Amino acid sequence: MIQTILSQAVEAARPAAELGQTATYIPELGKMDKHHLGACVFTWEGERCCAGDTDVRFSIQSISKVISLAAALELCGYDTVFERVGMEPSGEAFNAMGKLEAVGSTPSNPMINAGAIAVDSYLEPKISFEEMLSFTRKLCMDPQIVLDEKVYHSEMSHISRNRAIAYLLENTGVIRSDVERTLDFYVRMCSLSITAESLAGLGLVLAGDGVHPATGERLLSPDTVRVVKTIMLTCGMYDGSGTFAVQVGIPSKSGVGGGILSVVDGRMGIGIFGPALDGKGNSVAGIQVLRTLSRELHLHIFDPSEHR
Ligand code: GLN
Repeated sequence: MIQTILSQAVEAARPAAELGQTATYIPELGKMDKHHLGACVFTWEGERCCAGDTDVRFSIQSISKVISLAAALELCGYDTVFERVGMEPSGEAFNAMGKLEAVGSTPSNPMINAGAIAVDSYLEPKISFEEMLSFTRKLCMDPQIVLDEKVYHSEMSHISRNRAIAYLLENTGVIRSDVERTLDFYVRMCSLSITAESLAGLGLVLAGDGVHPATGERLLSPDTVRVVKTIMLTCGMYDGSGTFAVQVGIPSKSGVGGGILSVVDGRMGIGIFGPALDGKGNSVAGIQVLRTLSRELHLHIFDPSEHR
C-alpha cells in the first residue's frame, strides 16, 4: 500500500519541477537536471519502498547540518553547542547575515548557515572529516557515500558569503577556532554525495531514537536525537518551516542539492530528491510528494491518534 501511494505521489508531483530552479549560486549544483524526482520510504518493520530517481547521487548540502549537530551534541555536549547558537526559527533566508552584526548577537539556530558554521567550529577540533564521513555512512546505512570533489571545489570558489558570515561570527566571539579550517570542514560536509535512499536510512535511524534498525547498534543517544528532531521540526525548512509544519507536519531538513530528509517518529524514514527549488531553497516537487504522503498515510505529528 505504501508503494502504490508513493509511486502515485511521485508521478503527480513531477510537473511541479517546472516551478523551481536548481541552485545556480553553486555552479556545479546548477548543472543538475531539475526534472529528477525520487522518494524512498523505509519503515521500522523493514519495508523499503522507492519510486522515481532514488539511486541518483546528489549533494547532501544543508542536510549535513543535521549530522554535524548530532555529532556536536555527542562530542561537545548540549551546553557548549547552545552557549552561542540559539534554537529559535530565524524567519530569514538560510544564508542571511543581517542580524549577526550586532554585538552580542548569535545565530538563531543550527540549521541556517551561520548556526551550522558555528557548530562546525566546535566540532571540527574534535573529529576529522574522514571520521565524519564514516559516521555519515553508518547513519545513512550507505557505505558508498563519498566527497563529491567537483561540488566541493565549486562551492569553495564561491564561498564569499559564508566566509563573510564566518568572520563576522569570529568578530563577535561566536567562533573561537580557526575560521578557514571551519569553512573547509563545513563545505566538505555539504559536498557529500548521497541518494534518496541514504536519506531514508538516516531518517529511520532518527525515527528509532538513534538505533540502527538492522543491527540494533546505538549510533546516537536518545537525548541527542530528541534535540535534533525538534530543531528539524521548527527550523529545518528555513523560513518555510512554519507553513511546512502545518501542511506536512513531519520533522524534516532540506538542502539546496534538492534533498529532503523526513522522520516519522517511531515509524519511518523518508528520503526525497528533487533539485528544482522554490525561492526559499526547498525542493518544490519534494514538498508536494511529502504533502501527499502525509495526507494519505496520516503522517502529520498531530493527526488524530485513531489514524496512526
Ligand atoms: N552549502 C550550502 C551553503 O552554504 C548549503 C545551503 C543549503 O543547502 N541550504 O550555502
